[in-house]
Amino acid sequence: MRPAHFSSLFARTMRDDPTDENVASAKLLVRGGYVRKMAPGVFAWLPLGLKVLKNVEKVIREEMAGIGAQEVHLPALLPKSVYSPTGRWDEYGDNIFKLKDRHGADYLLAPTHEEPFTLLAKDLLSSYKELPLTLYQIQTKYRDEARPRAGLIRGREFIMKDAYSFSLDEEGMKECYVEEREAYERVFRRLGVSYVVVRAFSGPMGGSESEEFLCPLEIGEDTFVQAPSGRAWNVEALKTPAKEEDFSSLPLPREIQTPLDGSISSLEAFLKEKGISSPLLKNIAVSLKAPDGKKTLAVVGLPGDRQLDLKRLEACLAPLEASIAEEADLKAHPELVKGFIGVTKVGPQSSQDAKCPYFLDAHVARGSAWCTGSDKEGFHTLGLVYGRDFECDKVVEAAQIKEGDLSPDGSGELSIERGVEIGQVFQLGLKYSRSMGFKVTGASRGPKDVWMGSYGIGVSRLIACIAESHRDEKGLVWPISAAPFKVHVISARKECREECERLGRETCRLGLETLIDDRDESAGVKFADADLLGSPIIAIVGREYMERGAIEIKVRESGEVRKAPSQEAAKEILAYAEALRSALLQGACLE
Ligand code: ATP
Ligand code: MG
Repeated sequence: MRPAHFSSLFARTMRDDPTDENVASAKLLVRGGYVRKMAPGVFAWLPLGLKVLKNVEKVIREEMAGIGAQEVHLPALLPKSVYSPTGRWDEYGDNIFKLKDRHGADYLLAPTHEEPFTLLAKDLLSSYKELPLTLYQIQTKYRDEARPRAGLIRGREFIMKDAYSFSLDEEGMKECYVEEREAYERVFRRLGVSYVVVRAFSGPMGGSESEEFLCPLEIGEDTFVQAPSGRAWNVEALKTPAKEEDFSSLPLPREIQTPLDGSISSLEAFLKEKGISSPLLKNIAVSLKAPDGKKTLAVVGLPGDRQLDLKRLEACLAPLEASIAEEADLKAHPELVKGFIGVTKVGPQSSQDAKCPYFLDAHVARGSAWCTGSDKEGFHTLGLVYGRDFECDKVVEAAQIKEGDLSPDGSGELSIERGVEIGQVFQLGLKYSRSMGFKVTGASRGPKDVWMGSYGIGVSRLIACIAESHRDEKGLVWPISAAPFKVHVISARKECREECERLGRETCRLGLETLIDDRDESAGVKFADADLLGSPIIAIVGREYMERGAIEIKVRESGEVRKAPSQEAAKEILAYAEALRSALLQGACLE
């Protein structure tokens, strides 16, 4: 290994933030010359960025090897026929990049690889003796995300580690799942990334059990809830405990005249003025879009004091996409009177020809009484009991979760946090092997089903999360395992160049990748760039060296500076590096 030189490094640092990035990590990765945006959600990796990527991949590869997973590499470009048997060619809708070849045949750029891995395994494996098996790849994925954002966090071209396990029975699948999950924990710990494991919603992937690894960050798009017991859930996976109430003594419903504007707030004020106390049931018309683009209308009922959470609703209705119905969507259903939508013209109690389905949020307990619209302007009905006066087509999770809601595990009140999903593990069961006809011969009695799992880590997103959680006002502060260079040597005076070269050669000899800032820049510019780039150890060769033969060694994370005689400096740096490494493994920071 030889030291690298800043003067010839293909990177240009920037003093000012790029205008088109809005999160700190993305700004710093661009300013530090790590990556460069080429199109929305599409990035070029520059030498520094690529070094970080290789370091992160190395940790992942070591942990995958540790559980006996074998690496392969599949194409990103695949024909429609691969994704048709499972229905995902259509299900992914606008989220995949589809293209045609010169003969007019349909292709896609793979958003994930369950199908081709299943086909490949089916192609090569025939006997139960060859299972269990886990394969993985680190490869580029494509998703035409509606909102690429936050630099590498939500890209349209991004790098994923995806692994797939094949087992002979459910128990075998679970064993592979646990192994993979444990490997994830080691990967994230080694890279200094904090994570929370949350119970997840399987989404279009299908299957039963699934967990997500979320990095707790304010900029995250995922909301998760945490119970006092420490258990956590993605809000999309949170199930409201079912409740039933005794309605035997409740009076029959009665209609009342109410203000014409039909808003919840004016209705609340009106009932208060009249001295009527009743929980309100708001019925919201939503438009549901199927993967083929076909739209239908449905009505969702939820407690008046909660907001509608479309992501939670979508998780119950997948693969349909939900949005609040607009005037145009409502035209076909004149029976739905805006502001006064009730329960008589929807769902099972509707006598309409084209019935509008009625979904009821799980917070509405069976047997409880509500005030809701009467399906005519200016009227509401009081005392409508769910299960006595109306029914629904499906109970859904549609209401926003609130801080202080009770945890489903009974351990107390939930707190709400934000995070970025860095990985997800799925027990897929038989979904893919069945639909693609993958079985192996058993020890006896005919072919056996293959139980699968799939496991993803967003490698490029993970790098953004490392950057986002390891930085300060001056720049990046890489954990040593991910850092592109472990040592950044600053030649603060022209006369010190030779000593810098000597030190760099020595740190390299000790196994520490080293960058020497040999540019004709002022010491101030070099110090600022070293802080921006974020190597964990910065060695300054300048006045101290010229006057006393000493090198200043700065630990980027703590800012601590120590002096060492030039001949001892490399050894001292190595000791720091080792301390940083072991602090990382213990999940702690070096003080
Ligand atoms: P999200 O909910 O954030 O869109 P996802 O659940 O659709 O992600 P998976 O299909 O579970 O993603 O993919 C596995 C991993 O790939 C995710 O845990 C995430 O870390 C990463 N990933 C997914 N989409 C992107 C993206 N657009 N850019 C970067 N990384 C991504
Ligand atoms: Mg996911």
